[in-house]
Amino acid sequence: MSPDATPTRLAPIGIVPRMRPRLPLLLVLLAVTPLACGDDGGAPPDAAAPDAPLAATADWTRDVLDTRLAIDLLSREATATITLAASASHGASFEIGDLELASVTDGDGAALPFVDNGDTVDVGVATTDEATLVFAYTFRYHDGFQGADDNPALTLTWPYYCGNLFPCKTHDNPADGTAFALELTGVPETKVAIYPHEIAAASPPYMLAWAIAAYTELDLGTTTAGTHVKMWYQPNQLNAATAGGAHLRDSFDWFEQTLGPYLFGDTVGSVSATWGFGAYGGMEHHPFWHVGSTALGDEEVNVHEAAHGWFGNGVRLRCWEDFTLSEGTVTYLAARALTVTGGPVLAQSIWDAYAARLQGLRDDGGGGVAWPDSCGAVDILDLFSDTPYTKGAYFYRAVANHVGVDALDAALSAFYMRYRGEAAGMQDMLDTIEAETGWDPTACATKWLRTAEVPADLECP
Ligand SMILES: [Zn+2]
Repeated sequence: MSPDATPTRLAPIGIVPRMRPRLPLLLVLLAVTPLACGDDGGAPPDAAAPDAPLAATADWTRDVLDTRLAIDLLSREATATITLAASASHGASFEIGDLELASVTDGDGAALPFVDNGDTVDVGVATTDEATLVFAYTFRYHDGFQGADDNPALTLTWPYYCGNLFPCKTHDNPADGTAFALELTGVPETKVAIYPHEIAAASPPYMLAWAIAAYTELDLGTTTAGTHVKMWYQPNQLNAATAGGAHLRDSFDWFEQTLGPYLFGDTVGSVSATWGFGAYGGMEHHPFWHVGSTALGDEEVNVHEAAHGWFGNGVRLRCWEDFTLSEGTVTYLAARALTVTGGPVLAQSIWDAYAARLQGLRDDGGGGVAWPDSCGAVDILDLFSDTPYTKGAYFYRAVANHVGVDALDAALSAFYMRYRGEAAGMQDMLDTIEAETGWDPTACATKWLRTAEVPADLECP
């Protein structure tokens, strides 16, 4: 998410917490009454009895490996083919928001029992090997960034609205990564749909997106590693795209060379998203991340979203509480990359802007804690403020001032190379910094990330 998409700015465009409390597991189990054929209903799941009919069973622990979507924009009919890792469990649960499920079948087309609990579904999985589930469903369009919107034609499912688009899991836990495929039909002939057809690496469920408009491509060239960097702008936005992308290719190159190889494809870039004037910022929909049209000319926003390819997406969050591992890290890295690629004047302007944001937190009573000491207990929309962004960036800046900026680059790379494609937490980052530099940053993290106030002295203790 963008550094500038603060709740203040988001409030007018409708991102508000919408708690959807999950039924207690016991109630879900008591409510098992398969709706689909293949079961006579009512029989409790009994793995020990070989002839027991397969029943829909709640299990939120299943590991999703792959999510392949075929979506028709006109009829709103869709198919999600989801591959689950092998498990001893015969159940699988997903968030389905307001999807209307028509059927759930296995890879051979055989119907599987499922229970539609409203905004969640429990499925009976026939095999304990790797399993394929095929969901046929209809989705609804939403305003206010809670799934797919038809006008403007784009999606935004962060943080936990993917269930309004396809069966997924993010509400309590963002850690489970999935590969993706997406095929859209019903795109107007006069428009261009920008979306990835395949994402081979494990990605957060909210990473997938599309945007449809009258796009023109601006080619920014190729990185040392061979990645094509582009921008997609709308009519009358060429100047903004040129300004916002001035150091985007070089910054992406610096990320690849400094942190490690990019995971999500060989063509990447910023897509001008019609978010409206109330929404300034971007969203890390790699490999084609969205930047709100009003922010398209802002270099820091473009590079910030690019950096999420390494932190937030490349390494996923273990818990929503680790949000600063994504946002604090990329806020620091956007300034770091643009210092290297854009020079001292640009660097100064970015840190001046961060300083104004820090002062904003100070004026606002300190901004609260950036890194809560829990996992899965905090609603991300309650934690979503500028605090994890700006205090996170200043934490890294203080660490760089203490161990050296190059030593911190090396530690960030070591962290990425160890955890890429997986989920990790902020404590893993502290451990990596200590392992790589020989210096324990815990007290500095306490000062910047665990304290509600803004420190008067910016440096590590
Ligand atoms: Zn962000």
